[in-house]
Amino acid sequence: MDENPYRIQGPAVISVSFGRTSAYMLKQIIDAHGGKLPDDVHVVFCNTGAELEETLRFGYECGVRWGVNIRWLEWRDRRKRTPVEQRFEEVGFNSAARHGEPFEALIRSKKSVPNMNSRWCTQHLKVQVCADFMTSLGYTHWLNVIGLRADELRRVVKKDRQNEEAKDPWANVMPMVQARDTKADVRRFWFGNMKPIDAVQIQRDFGPTAAATLPQGFDLGLDEWEGNCTFCFALGYNVLLHRIRRRPEITLWPSKMERLVGGTFTTEYSYADLEKAALTSPLLDLGDNFNSDAECGVGGSDSSIRCGRRAA
Ligand code: SF4
Repeated sequence: MDENPYRIQGPAVISVSFGRTSAYMLKQIIDAHGGKLPDDVHVVFCNTGAELEETLRFGYECGVRWGVNIRWLEWRDRRKRTPVEQRFEEVGFNSAARHGEPFEALIRSKKSVPNMNSRWCTQHLKVQVCADFMTSLGYTHWLNVIGLRADELRRVVKKDRQNEEAKDPWANVMPMVQARDTKADVRRFWFGNMKPIDAVQIQRDFGPTAAATLPQGFDLGLDEWEGNCTFCFALGYNVLLHRIRRRPEITLWPSKMERLVGGTFTTEYSYADLEKAALTSPLLDLGDNFNSDAECGVGGSDSSIRCGRRAA
């Protein structure tokens, strides 16, 4: 990279989750390259099949509005003997899985569900898919561009440690950290002077076109505690309860997976327990959890979560 951290030296893969942070990073990178990415800098979205429709629409809009080719990929196979180009499949907005299919196939293959101690969903469904994609293109070494911000120190340290270990064919780069961009920068980019909660409420009331007055002319349309896998066990109890109250149907798929393998995603509760709690308890104030990010792998502030309980 040169002095501008957003100018990426290929070969590189930019991994986007279609949350506001990674979309912000993508736009900075596109702008730093004068509107067109080098041919050996690839943009990838790995679909788990458990995303909200708003997330998929937002990602599609990022690609179209910013004139960038975003490759939509889904996990298919984890066997080493399977050729890399068959371990994932390229899909598009219309053909992308919407009922957890890639995630379910992985759970069936592992005969267990992931948890906080063993969060292999991110590893297989996202990290490895990116790696297989780059390998399928013939690259042996590349940069892995990640949308971590300067205010996410704990996760940044983890990625730096991975770089030091140098076990992977890629090196992680975090241009937002080098640029010292924080959540405040991301919010300003998408919402200007509006409060995020107000900007999202307007879109909930009047539909996506209400975002036309926001700085970028479009938006994700989800609260900051929504987004990525609808049921994500890494978010913590309070955020999950809030999500379930808003969209009760999101417990159906994880409950089915827990019954399938006879285990639970978290130690203290099953998704059937969560559904019951949402039905029988009053609306809770999310407090600081309202500020929680919901991009894959970013948990809420509920640190009491423990995972891996086997069902009785
Ligand atoms: S959003 Fe949560 S459940 Fe989905 S892949 Fe990431 S860590 Fe796993």
